[in-house]
Amino acid sequence: MSRSLDIAVIPGDGIGQEVVAQGLKVLTAVLPPDVKLETTPYDLGAQRWHRTGETLPDAELEALKGHDAILLGAIGDPGVPSGVLERGLLLKLRFAFDHFINLRPSKLFPNTSTPLAGTPEIDFVVVREGTEGPYTGNGGSLRTGTPAEVATEVSVNTAYGVERVVRDAFERAAARPRKKLTLVHKNNVLVYAGHLWKNVFDRVAQEYPQVTTDYLHVDAATIFFVTQPERFDVIVTDNLFGDILTDLAAAVTGGIGLAASGNINPTGAFPSMFEPVHGSAPDIAGTGKADPTATILSVALLLRHLGFDAEAARIEEAVSADLAGRDGTFRTTDEIGDALAVRVAS
Ligand code: ATP
Ligand code: MG
Repeated sequence: MSRSLDIAVIPGDGIGQEVVAQGLKVLTAVLPPDVKLETTPYDLGAQRWHRTGETLPDAELEALKGHDAILLGAIGDPGVPSGVLERGLLLKLRFAFDHFINLRPSKLFPNTSTPLAGTPEIDFVVVREGTEGPYTGNGGSLRTGTPAEVATEVSVNTAYGVERVVRDAFERAAARPRKKLTLVHKNNVLVYAGHLWKNVFDRVAQEYPQVTTDYLHVDAATIFFVTQPERFDVIVTDNLFGDILTDLAAAVTGGIGLAASGNINPTGAFPSMFEPVHGSAPDIAGTGKADPTATILSVALLLRHLGFDAEAARIEEAVSADLAGRDGTFRTTDEIGDALAVRVAS
């Protein structure tokens, strides 16, 4: 049986274009000859918005649905008003394709500097809820702009939404060697949402006796991320806590040039989207300084999501070896991409 891979590519803006080119280079190199790879570029992002005022027209949203997965570089530049591309493009995609899992692996690779003391073993995955919490746009403002303004930002938590992310996290924990899952919330203060999360978590836990579970308040979790990161294996948490924790996780594992992520719909009903955590970095765009590793690791996540486990592992091993061999000599974006393409091909 011949296999095929049909990927939509949104290079986006700034270094997004540069790092995605390297991601595709490595993807092409890692696939065995019997896999037919097709890539379709989509011109979306700040440049498109400047030209046409469009963020994500419905025709393109429809077209994106037909692909196996999406690879995104980065979206945005300082000339676009805040929120336009976030709401009009990124969140629109996330809600339309029901990307309810935001997956962020956090691993400290060899020879990678961490601001933490010593060389802790860091190898955990944050499973962040992607479609609920305070990100649904529920709320409002009364007496806006006056000294008597009242603003609410409602956190939406449904049993359906919580259960599906908790189940996904248990599945991921059960598939890892340590089989440990930590729920992070703040149920001593956010009692309604917190108890919903805790109750669903405890109920689903009964179906996974092989998984060790624990619970941490989010404030305690931030301390442990820094003082005992090795205690974590898989973490499941809500949309807002996950947003903050995953940036902290990127910072303690060698920074933004290495952090990969997936916006995943595990049901397969819609394509999932994989992207580096960093932004378009206009300050270094065009200089060759962008590290494409985060994007290349995002390609590995994409491959694993689509069942290309061996190819995903080859990319991760190549990144490990490449990082181990780094001696501080400057290499351009392109040179790092070339080196990794050679490693995965051999
Ligand atoms: P956004 O709003 O799009 O998230 P941001 O202001 O958070 O953007 P990033 O684009 O994520 O900024 O960049 C933050 C800093 O990290 C910048 O100084 C940038 O140059 C640097 N940086 C980001 N990505 C990379 C990368 N792949 N390689 C090297 N440096 C990077
Ligand atoms: Mg940012």
